[in-house]
Amino acid sequence: MAEVLVVVEHSGGEVKKVTLEMLTLARELGTPAAVVLGGPGVAAPLLDRLGEYGAAKVYAGESADLDGYLVAPKAAVLADLVRQGQPAAVLLGSTQEGKEIAGRLAVKLDNGLLADVSALDGQGVATQTVFAGSTIVKSQVTRGLPLATVRPNSLSPVPAPATAEVVPLEVAVDDTAKLARVVERKVEPKGARPELTEASVVISGGRGVGNADNFKLVEELADLLGGAVGASRAAVDSGFYPHQFQVGQTGKTVSPQLYVALGISGAIQHRAGMQTSKTIVAVNKDAEAPIFELADFGVVGDLFKVVPQAAEEIRKR
Ligand code: FAD
Repeated sequence: MAEVLVVVEHSGGEVKKVTLEMLTLARELGTPAAVVLGGPGVAAPLLDRLGEYGAAKVYAGESADLDGYLVAPKAAVLADLVRQGQPAAVLLGSTQEGKEIAGRLAVKLDNGLLADVSALDGQGVATQTVFAGSTIVKSQVTRGLPLATVRPNSLSPVPAPATAEVVPLEVAVDDTAKLARVVERKVEPKGARPELTEASVVISGGRGVGNADNFKLVEELADLLGGAVGASRAAVDSGFYPHQFQVGQTGKTVSPQLYVALGISGAIQHRAGMQTSKTIVAVNKDAEAPIFELADFGVVGDLFKVVPQAAEEIRKR
């Protein structure tokens, strides 16, 4: 079976969840081959995890040029790899970096691009949800191979252990790809809570939480359940919680096992970021709030009464 290239998203020596999702998808399309790009020594700590999710091969492009510049050198290396290998498909994460690399790669290869897909089938037909999840589009490239960015949390990663053969890539990047250099990289310290887009439990607060101080209630419930904290845009715009925790069309997309919406009305732009959550629980004092149309379990009540009671029950168990 032809190879399906999966461009690995990684950080701090760890493989990001979206990569595991892409490897799971790649197994349905052909033989998954992971592509790790970064500075010298970047691939070694990632190999076990990539093998665990079925990467039969790991192409390792390791060079200071791939670490010290913005994404153009990575697109150049990938373009060479695609031209030489003729893979069945190329998958990148629909993340800030993945999208930028994919766009450059499509131009270099004169290839169509399927952006932000939630599924891709063996015939190269992609599924995309647009207009805040209200419309589903099926699309296909009309030139070249299926080159797609995959929306994080669109599918569940399933392990399928394989022994990955490591193939070092020759990295020859010319000066035209080195026009913007990284001058500083500041990694936010990792909090005690899981990363929002990777958490299996997300507790989100909305305008109904009232103020920044009250968000402690949301955090407390998240900590009891080992979850991450999210926020609606109204809560973020009101200064209750930082923007990096915003869930929705203009925020993060999450798809946890459990999503709890506290004092959130359920506007379409909020739903766009959480509607694929497996179980949705809503607490809202307005029985007519649209979030109840989506919720698996709804509590009509004041969150300042309901949340402390729920927390007390959880502590007893
Ligand atoms: P509200 O709609 O004001 O709802 C607050 C809810 O809290 C109400 O239902 C109320 O009944 C309930 N409540 C109040 N007090 C209590 C209490 N004590 N106990 C229980 N319930 C209580 N929104 C997002 O969230 N994410 C996005 O990414 C996003 N992107 C957008 C992009 C665009 C282009 C636009 C136009 C809008 C976007 N929005 C986004 C905004 C969105 O339209 C809504 O305005 C927003 O989601 C509302 O947030 P909310 O539900 O917290 O506030």
